[in-house]
Amino acid sequence: MESKLQELKTRLTEIDDLESAASLLHWDQTTYMPPGGASARARQMATLNRLAHEKFTDPAVGELLEALRDYEESLPHDSDEASLIRVTRHAYEKAAKVPPAFMAELHSHGSESYQVWTKARPDNDFGAVQPYLEKTLDLSRQFADFFPGYAQIADPLIDFPDEGMTVSIIRPLFATLREQLVPIVQAIADAPPVDDSCLHQTFPEAQQLAFGTDVIKRFGYDFERGRQDKTHHPFATKFSLGDVRITTRSREDDLSEALFSTMHEAGHGMYEQGICMDFEGTPLANGTSAGVHESQSRLWENIVGRSRGFWRFFYPKLQSTFPDQLRRVPMETFYRAINKVERSLIRTDADEVTYNLHVMLRFDLELDLLEGTLAVSELPDAWRERFQADFGIVPPDDRDGVLQDVHWYAGTIGGCFQGYTLGNILNAQFFETALNAHPEITSEIEAGEFGTLHGWLKENIYQHGSKYTAPELIERVTGGPLRIEPYIRYLRSKYGELYPL
Ligand code: ZN
Repeated sequence: MESKLQELKTRLTEIDDLESAASLLHWDQTTYMPPGGASARARQMATLNRLAHEKFTDPAVGELLEALRDYEESLPHDSDEASLIRVTRHAYEKAAKVPPAFMAELHSHGSESYQVWTKARPDNDFGAVQPYLEKTLDLSRQFADFFPGYAQIADPLIDFPDEGMTVSIIRPLFATLREQLVPIVQAIADAPPVDDSCLHQTFPEAQQLAFGTDVIKRFGYDFERGRQDKTHHPFATKFSLGDVRITTRSREDDLSEALFSTMHEAGHGMYEQGICMDFEGTPLANGTSAGVHESQSRLWENIVGRSRGFWRFFYPKLQSTFPDQLRRVPMETFYRAINKVERSLIRTDADEVTYNLHVMLRFDLELDLLEGTLAVSELPDAWRERFQADFGIVPPDDRDGVLQDVHWYAGTIGGCFQGYTLGNILNAQFFETALNAHPEITSEIEAGEFGTLHGWLKENIYQHGSKYTAPELIERVTGGPLRIEPYIRYLRSKYGELYPL
């Protein structure tokens, strides 16, 4: 058994090497690559990803997993070895169900559709992408059908990014959240607008980036095992557990852009830097789901980074970094500005409160499309109607409506969006659990100290990587299932103090 397990690990490490090389090419593509590299780069990444997929779905991997079944069952469920075999088997079974020819079609359709979308969005031309989106919907349904026995057609699509989550779990959670959020957003819209002009002066980029770097070093992001570069759409990426990088972007006329994207991506990065080093090169060395990953980025960005306690410590430092711009701005004005809630059209620019409404709108439309109650041709109107119901405003065009997110135009319909809101719900639940265990976290944040919080996250969440599914992890960490109440409590208490709710 030892030799079979060793052989499995050797194969998995080779697959991880190919995937990591593809990730490095992608990182380079979005940071430093000259435009002339684009066409060869797309092909190079596709080759590496195809080789990795072929190696993983090799029947020899299935035979090894089969041979290791008794051994796995003789070990405790939460041992590293049993977890490696279990998690690998689960991924193998899912990957093996989808024929390689289908995956190739899905990918090539995705890149074609993406190309059309990059022109259709600025042209405000939904008609141009409609036939592509119809085919995407068709392929997404076919994809789901490789996993017969699902309760809802979106379930298999959700299970890839958020294993263990289903429509029947998510739908009632989101319905409760929407019921709470719509009146909060309405009350906020009726209140006098918050003046956030203090954020919109001129802030030189170098000082912005230096300030953000100082913050995330204090959080515990390890620059010996990571680095930060500039890009258009910030992300975090891992090439090994010793090299987990983040990216950011800045705007000289918007102080919040670089600062909060840096904190957000550092949250993703610290998660992966904190994974147990023994998992290197295996499928355990990743965050466990889209939702849990997003909970870690949002915890640092929002619960910590947009809190009053955090700024009690950091605001004087920010003022001395930008004395001309902020000397005369009281902390309370700044605090309200960075927590301004407004009804806006674009998901990625949305505040902490309205963000979830953007996500849930997309989640529900995805379900309607997959279930066949909504046709692609009706999607722009359905978008406008729902936007009106949730936000009280209507997007003036499709560019800032149904065409705004890349997700549907480059991948599948289904599974794309729920992780963002699951992350918001979860970050409050995790943070509340951490505070119950260590009430001193609050005063430490006010002193610019994050060791207890970072240590708790590492101990309870980071180190486990993908060893536990999200539902298993939530149960282990919080003693119960995913719960929405901590998040509602968090929103009501924070925004109830800022706005007359
Ligand atoms: Zn994120």
